Amino acid sequence: MRLLIVEDEPRMAALLQRGFRDEGYAVDVASDGTDGLWMGTENDYDAVILDVMLPGLDGFEVCRQLRERDRWAPVLMLTARDAVDDRVHGLDVGADDYAAKPFSFAELAARVRALVRRNSRDRPTILEVGDLRLDPATHHAWRGATALELSPKEMALLELLMRHPDEVITRTHILEHVWDFAYDGLSNVVDQYVSYLRKKVDKPFDRDDIETVRGVGYRLRLPVT
Ligand code: CA
Repeated sequence: MRLLIVEDEPRMAALLQRGFRDEGYAVDVASDGTDGLWMGTENDYDAVILDVMLPGLDGFEVCRQLRERDRWAPVLMLTARDAVDDRVHGLDVGADDYAAKPFSFAELAARVRALVRRNSRDRPTILEVGDLRLDPATHHAWRGATALELSPKEMALLELLMRHPDEVITRTHILEHVWDFAYDGLSNVVDQYVSYLRKKVDKPFDRDDIETVRGVGYRLRLPVT
């Protein structure tokens, strides 16, 4: 899952970026409204956290223009405490939720999970594909009764595959949703992580569910019933 955070206060932006990265998200940060609008238009985010008070365009304007440009990633606005007008205005310009500053990170993370869930085609709290199960809230995954020991990136990759079972997911799509803007490393990183994931999710169980679609990407096979 890839997030965009638009926040001009460096300390707050760094805190959110670190927090969400620890939760396994790919996180991009924009420090003003103009950059935020550009990044939100150019990239396909799973959710956007948008501060209201920003230099350049304010958060309302960024949200309004994103919607105008047909970008429908769920938006959570960060408002001033008790600013009821902000909340109303935010919802009017197309925001999906808000959190009033100061907020607890745990609460914000839970709200973002709810937004991402609401946005996906099917909305279970715990994802299930065959005998694979994954709980995005607690970062636990299982094959049958066996708990899987996955790194945050492996977990994010498995979550993406499980949200689109039986669909071919291109390398570019995986790169865009699991790695963030700052990533400029090896182009075969996706293949590398798929191979790590297979070693933990498929091989020990004598399975071959993560399928390579040659020249395109990967597909998590649905169990044959
Ligand atoms: Ca601000």
